Amino acid sequence: MSRTVHIIGAGIAGLAAAVSLAARGVATVVHEATDQAGGRCRSYDDAASGMRIDNGTHILLSGNVAALDFLARIRALAMVTGASKARFPFIDLATRQRWMLDLGDGRLPLWVFDRRRRAPNTRARDYVALARLIWRAPDRPLDQMISCSGPAYEQVMRPLLLAALNTDPSTASSDLARAVIRESIAQGGVACRPYLAPRGLSAAFVEPALAYLKSHAGIVHFGNQLHRCDVTAEAVTGLDFGNDVAVVGPDDAVVLAVPPYAARSIIPQLSAPDEFRAIVNAHFRIVPPPDLEPMTGVLNGTAEWIFFFEDRISATISGADLFMQHTKEEIAKLIWRDVQRVANVQAEMPPWQIVRERRATFAATPAQNAKRPGVRTAWRNLALAGDWTDTGLPATIESAVRSGNRAADFVMQL
Ligand SMILES: Cc1cc2nc3c(=O)[nH]c(=O)nc-3n(C[C@H](O)[C@H](O)[C@H](O)COP(=O)(O)OP(=O)(O)OC[C@H]3O[C@@H](n4cnc5c(N)ncnc54)[C@H](O)[C@@H]3O)c2cc1C
Repeated sequence: MSRTVHIIGAGIAGLAAAVSLAARGVATVVHEATDQAGGRCRSYDDAASGMRIDNGTHILLSGNVAALDFLARIRALAMVTGASKARFPFIDLATRQRWMLDLGDGRLPLWVFDRRRRAPNTRARDYVALARLIWRAPDRPLDQMISCSGPAYEQVMRPLLLAALNTDPSTASSDLARAVIRESIAQGGVACRPYLAPRGLSAAFVEPALAYLKSHAGIVHFGNQLHRCDVTAEAVTGLDFGNDVAVVGPDDAVVLAVPPYAARSIIPQLSAPDEFRAIVNAHFRIVPPPDLEPMTGVLNGTAEWIFFFEDRISATISGADLFMQHTKEEIAKLIWRDVQRVANVQAEMPPWQIVRERRATFAATPAQNAKRPGVRTAWRNLALAGDWTDTGLPATIESAVRSGNRAADFVMQL
């Protein structure tokens, strides 16, 4: 009898698991609760702004090797645009000072020793003090490991870590912060070139993955929410979707690639993160002024990053829980003021949309990091995947893809 692997959840982790298995000739059936794949990484047509927008602008770095390999496998590398250099324009809205953080294109962090390439008012030795983070130590809040103040922290470390951890870096897990630094600036500029998906997240990460699965005889069921697993002491034997039950044969396997709160409602005894952080994104329908770099880091504003696409300007606020109390209109106005100052635009606020993802990522604190389970479960044929499983990385596309690949490898070894 041929073997089938059921993958629950068509987010990036589930798609990566399915693609990895399909590439090895395994029959895959993906079950997705909603009517759309992509999960927290998706595009949709928005009536208010009259645009197709992403739930949030996503950045990859050239050091995100698993994510880029995933794109290569599904033949979607052309759908992301990588900067040729690891150069990040910044503006401090309190002082109006602008600078270019230029990480170079080699493996050595020589930029630290060049006044024109590092952040203003910083010295090489400020960065050397922050490098202490690289040394292994028990996981603890970052401010118990390094000093979370001073210009090098505020202008370089904090923006990078806040974007990657989606948690105030001073309270964040030192292990996760170390993983981010090790895989990015510690590798030099070669690992830090940013990639964006100007034609949208679904066009880059989702539609090509679905096409790949289709061309490999994979099946995807939408509107199929898993409620419960039927289990024996050793194995999952059935998947209960409410109206329908799928039998899981003795050679079959299941990859559960749903968010942590959904995983715990299916397997209540599972250890999983249960504290989350929000992300707010703004999208404005306006052609940006010419000659702007694709993205700018903002200090002392409302938005932290502003992105300039061909037909729109987008902005991101990470760790945005405080903004959940504000109306969308209030947030849009605050961010538009930042955009006006960053891009020297005088125009009235154009058509806009604000997307608030309340549970965008798990809170990257030491306590939450300790709750992340591995791939293995109490049942031999049930594997876990998702950006929240213990990949050693914060909740990112890279973490999601690695978790999906790992679940696929686990299932292959059964
Ligand atoms: C606004 C925002 C901005 C972000 N920015 C970045 C960034 O710049 N760079 C970066 O690398 N990462 C970023 N991320 C993080 C990234 O989006 C996630 O790490 C990644 O998408 C998680 O994928 P996943 O498959 O683990 O989970 P999810 O995307 O949550 O996928 C889980 C899927 O399971 C489905 N599901 C749930 N319950 C069930 C059920 N019972 N049965 C069947 N299906 C079910 C869901 O509908 C969903 O499709 C951002 C996230 C957000 C929200």
